[in-house]
Amino acid sequence: MSFSHDQVYAWVRAFAAAIAENKEYLTELDSAIGDADHGINMNRGMQAVLAKLEGDGQPDAGALLKTVGMTLVSTVGGASGPLYGTLFLQMGSSAAGKPELSDEDWAAALAAGVAGVQRRGKAELGDKTMIDALVPAVQALRSSLADGSAAGEALHRSAEAAREGMIATIPLVARKGRASYLGERSADHQDPGATSSWLLLRTAAETLAAKDG
Ligand code: ADP
Ligand code: MG
Repeated sequence: MSFSHDQVYAWVRAFAAAIAENKEYLTELDSAIGDADHGINMNRGMQAVLAKLEGDGQPDAGALLKTVGMTLVSTVGGASGPLYGTLFLQMGSSAAGKPELSDEDWAAALAAGVAGVQRRGKAELGDKTMIDALVPAVQALRSSLADGSAAGEALHRSAEAAREGMIATIPLVARKGRASYLGERSADHQDPGATSSWLLLRTAAETLAAKDG
């Protein structure tokens, strides 16, 4: 199975819709351990992305993903703008020039995006960040594909791993980002960035797996 430019575009739109729908929820999570702006930041960025993508056609999925990344970097303040921007920019570089993405191309692009977030933000697993959702998602995707799962099944496992990673941030003490200023008081709260990353993987499973038999 492979993913077309239109499917990748559908995923970006679905992610924007999920962010808009969960804007208050994400901001509420950020009010507990941050500065109450994660939903606002992400929604501002994804609405700018939608406007940008409507305006100019993108020749392939790689170019589209790069445009998403550049738009996020230029419109979102805070930690999440450069980090999500890097994720999409690196995915775009990995997918550059490909008219369609095979499931392996998709896994490679996602892995490159997540590696970019790690290089940029220097967070490790367990630091209570978006990395706690993203890294397990990449691992689950890769191991499912290696086991011979169909792409749809691999995408759903990847989204489920992101959800588990998100839930697993609750008891953690933050070691990166604004929440780390709270020390022990950051425990018992779900990380907002891990939550938006779960939405990213959930919408990928919903839109990209849709046609899988
Ligand atoms: P800010 O913290 O600047 O207000 P946001 O509220 O938009 O930015 O985003 C906060 C989220 O960013 C956190 O919940 C966390 O998941 C993520 N984050 C913060 N710092 C890092 C980092 N160094 N690496 C990865 N993710 C990070
Ligand atoms: Mg914040």
